[in-house]
Amino acid sequence: MTQKVEATITNQRFNGKTVVVTGASSGIGVGIARRFAEEGANVVLAARREDRLEALAADLGADRTLAVATDVTSQDDVQEMVDATAARFGSLDVLVSNAGTGLGKEFQDTTLDDWRLMMNTNVDSCFFGAQAALPYLKRSRGSIVQIASASGLGGDRMLTAYNAAKGAVVNFTRGLAFDLGRFGIRVNAVAPSLTIGAEHADHPDAAGLIERFNQRRALTGYSTPADIAGAVAFLASDDARFITGTILPVDGGITAGSGQPPLF
Ligand code: NDP
Repeated sequence: MTQKVEATITNQRFNGKTVVVTGASSGIGVGIARRFAEEGANVVLAARREDRLEALAADLGADRTLAVATDVTSQDDVQEMVDATAARFGSLDVLVSNAGTGLGKEFQDTTLDDWRLMMNTNVDSCFFGAQAALPYLKRSRGSIVQIASASGLGGDRMLTAYNAAKGAVVNFTRGLAFDLGRFGIRVNAVAPSLTIGAEHADHPDAAGLIERFNQRRALTGYSTPADIAGAVAFLASDDARFITGTILPVDGGITAGSGQPPLF
């Protein structure tokens, strides 16, 4: 199922600003990096697959991008990536902690390794990013946007470890907003639901999946990385100057529902 998505970006809210995007080698992270680049930012692309980062950097413009191979489960890697950001661009204004991974498994089959993978990739990554970026964000009075999930706002079948990890991201966002507010640093999260990039829109399973989600949503269709990026850019911008500690669902209304399937 494909849908036409057109967005005309006329804002240049991030001219001269430097934005770090983790998980920028695929999916939502690519959309977020592209949006910030379109709005004038220097963009640092972080993930493990360096070839993909380099290709995106070339596409967005080598003069305003930096690709840094980073494993976000390693505090040293994240620190080095943030330091490389400052060395190249002289500041850090926005940290987008987007890197993450999911796992669909019955609880009884979930191993400690599965649990640790969810926590390390989805939660530790946000902690490491915030710790490393903090000295720079204090100087820029910048902001952090973390990518949570609808699965961090409620439970899903066969997603216990992911539910726990994204729930932690949600409440880490809220607590961190309080600790960093006194430095003028804002901390928010975006909570996507099923989001499909162009590369997966025609996958044979996509239509059925979208139809099942549409049963529980106010809007039909599906979100794309550009939809998530729009919400991230808003929260990172001065348009959201007095917004902190919020979790913004971008889910077609799925979390506005009672949880019941359609009655009529
Ligand atoms: P993808 O699998 O397409 O991309 C995940 C990104 O995270 C990749 O760039 C990957 O890069 C990176 N990543 C994973 N593990 C690591 C690691 N250890 N170190 C560095 N980077 C890592 O996922 P999405 O784009 O769909 O998801 C992005 C975020 O959005 C995630 O946090 C996800 O939980 C969340 N989300 C997604 C939804 C969706 O429907 N797509 C719905 C709700 C939330 P690499 O492999 O190169 O390291």
